[in-house]
Amino acid sequence: MKYERDRTWAEVSLDHLASNFQKLSEWTGPACDVLCVVKGNAYGHGAIEVSRELERVGCKILGVATLEEAMELREAGIRLPVLLLGPIPPSHTALAMENNLILPLIDEAYAREVSAAAVSAGRTLRAHLKIDTGMSRYGLPVSKDMDGCIAEALRIVQLPNMQVSGVFTHFAAAGDPYEDDFTRRQMGLFRIFSERMEAAGVKLIRHCANSPATIRFPQAHYDMIRTGTLLYGFNPFGRLELEPVMELKTRITQIKHLAPGDTVGYGRLFTCRRPTDIAIVPFGFVDGIHRSASNKAYMLVNGKPAKIVGKICMDLCFLDVTGIEDVAVGQIVTVFGWDHGVYQSAYALTDAYPGSAPELTAVLGTRVPRFYL
Ligand code: PLP
Repeated sequence: MKYERDRTWAEVSLDHLASNFQKLSEWTGPACDVLCVVKGNAYGHGAIEVSRELERVGCKILGVATLEEAMELREAGIRLPVLLLGPIPPSHTALAMENNLILPLIDEAYAREVSAAAVSAGRTLRAHLKIDTGMSRYGLPVSKDMDGCIAEALRIVQLPNMQVSGVFTHFAAAGDPYEDDFTRRQMGLFRIFSERMEAAGVKLIRHCANSPATIRFPQAHYDMIRTGTLLYGFNPFGRLELEPVMELKTRITQIKHLAPGDTVGYGRLFTCRRPTDIAIVPFGFVDGIHRSASNKAYMLVNGKPAKIVGKICMDLCFLDVTGIEDVAVGQIVTVFGWDHGVYQSAYALTDAYPGSAPELTAVLGTRVPRFYL
């Protein structure tokens, strides 16, 4: 079946993506690469189309979370180096090597397993050391035992059939000014670790900055940044003007004229207090919107905010369009993006619940077709 713009769909601007990539490259300067994070189907934007465009505009390296994501890119003919941000099962090491994937070495036990697999495959594995500076996620726990981790890392880089060329860490709260002391401590540990490795004769490509750190802590750029959020045009941190890559649209499928006392949807979560016009739009929680936006968030109808009322269903939700002129079945509604000269950011929806705009695009359902502009 060929998808049309007749239900709910996303418009993805590859021009905006390319322009964001160029702006980020300029922001970080020529000595710093921009690793583009395309995990989670490129935060919902479509990993293959996004990666192809990034390859075309000069991106040098991509980042994904899983082997399946990396293989999807390879099967689509994307040849850029790909860094796995999380470990893969060591039993797939040969496949990773055949496909020019770079693995994260999260500890010595894991490194020994993938090194042994590389030896039996008779190939050399490309890898980066992953260190944990306080997030308590994957990596050598340098925040707990710097000396022990240096010793461990020096043993890892000696393992056979391994080409360990980089070191990275991930920030826990680089976007939160109240946590800047914590972020500075993470940066300090990262710097000490990489300096001590260099002093021991192991020079590594250093990368630690995610999107918030890219904007807020230029001293964290080092040799490469790793960015997803900014790339897709979400920049709640200011200082750099980026363009949202995705707009999300839906269409009114039915209009109800309700009376005071009528209730709407499951659980009768919304009761009409006055004569109320309700537009039903086919955008439900399986398409990506969190149910906790029920009775809270808005969409744009004719450039006017229309509140989501009642509990969001799996396949649809209800908008209160009372008082908005010229509302008709079939008409386009903007979930986020431009509508009659008015812009609504995806953050306007996710502010209604503990989510974020990149999270909303990332969980956008598979049945929402993406159209590339
Ligand atoms: N680096 C790692 C290890 C990540 O897991 C992620 C995403 O969660 C990123 C970089 C990109 O983060 P952001 O979306 O803030 O740019």
